Amino acid sequence: MPRAFITGITGQDGYHLAEFLHGKGYDVYGMVKGQNNPRATKLQEELPFLELVPGDLADLPSLVAALQLAQPDEVYNLGAISFVALSFSQAELTANITGLGVLRMLEAIRMVGGTQDNPIRFYQASSSEMFGKVRQTPQTELTPFHPRSPYGCAKVFGHDIVVNYRESYGLHASSGILFNHEGPRRGIEFVTRKVTNAAARIKLGLQHELVMGTLDAKRDWGYAGDYVKGMWMMLQQDEPDDYVLATGETHSVEELVQLSFASVGIDDWQRYVRQDPKFYRPAEVDLLIGDASKATEKLGWKPEVDFPTLIDMMVQNDLEIEAAKAP
Ligand code: GDP
Repeated sequence: MPRAFITGITGQDGYHLAEFLHGKGYDVYGMVKGQNNPRATKLQEELPFLELVPGDLADLPSLVAALQLAQPDEVYNLGAISFVALSFSQAELTANITGLGVLRMLEAIRMVGGTQDNPIRFYQASSSEMFGKVRQTPQTELTPFHPRSPYGCAKVFGHDIVVNYRESYGLHASSGILFNHEGPRRGIEFVTRKVTNAAARIKLGLQHELVMGTLDAKRDWGYAGDYVKGMWMMLQQDEPDDYVLATGETHSVEELVQLSFASVGIDDWQRYVRQDPKFYRPAEVDLLIGDASKATEKLGWKPEVDFPTLIDMMVQNDLEIEAAKAP
């Protein structure tokens, strides 16, 4: 059986990727940090096949030990401080985990290596946030980076060091430049889930208002379940490379709000929404839209779930969760 090792296993993509790889017959190892991590305990209940391994992206010896234990064929580095707003207030931590964590993982792979005939293959979760103040629309693998947050800056370092290690040491290391990808398991701090959850709660009478930042920002939002398949496809190629995964469509935060409320049968969403500068960011990414033609041509990857279907899926899930909580 092939063996996969995933960092960031307790996050949205970790869950989807673990399920996907398990379905493909992999033994799946997930790295968890900390002592008595409650998210890990919950995940183990949901995915009983998963082997949890201790380790921390801030600690190189722990990464070496984790790889020695798991003996993986493929490593997926999804672990990061991944919330852009938080990266402004914890910039150094973000640089350490989201940026230097990639370097440590690459070093651990060089040390543990796999076998000569079967070297460890590496996937890095790069991000459309690297494009930031976009220099070109739509964005491709060749679009220059102009990050707008400490998170974006750390991801640029991670991306560049993957390319450097691939070219310097011949590692089979690939980066997926993934545009925003969402789903029912998205953290409540991200705008899609915040809005779908609020629409559900307002519909159920559990909440009366939704307080937002900018409604003008535009994102290329896809479904996380589609995107983890692309990660795996990248590592099945003979040659490592970088690929954009995106839907090629962009929607504003306002459209997201309007669609989420429409999903619960509320047309006059303006009645419930208020804006507060506390959700504004020191610098904003105004518009993202990706061109995934390279991934389509070379990997045969295409997203399946469109934006209205994604939002409706998330709203229905939040309705179920919130209704179960209601007295
Ligand atoms: P990001 O693309 O990784 O930053 O994903 P987010 O889901 O955190 O934010 C997407 C966009 O929504 C950004 O441009 C935010 O400024 C905007 N936005 C507007 N209001 C909110 C809010 O209340 N919470 C969050 N997370 N984002 C908001």
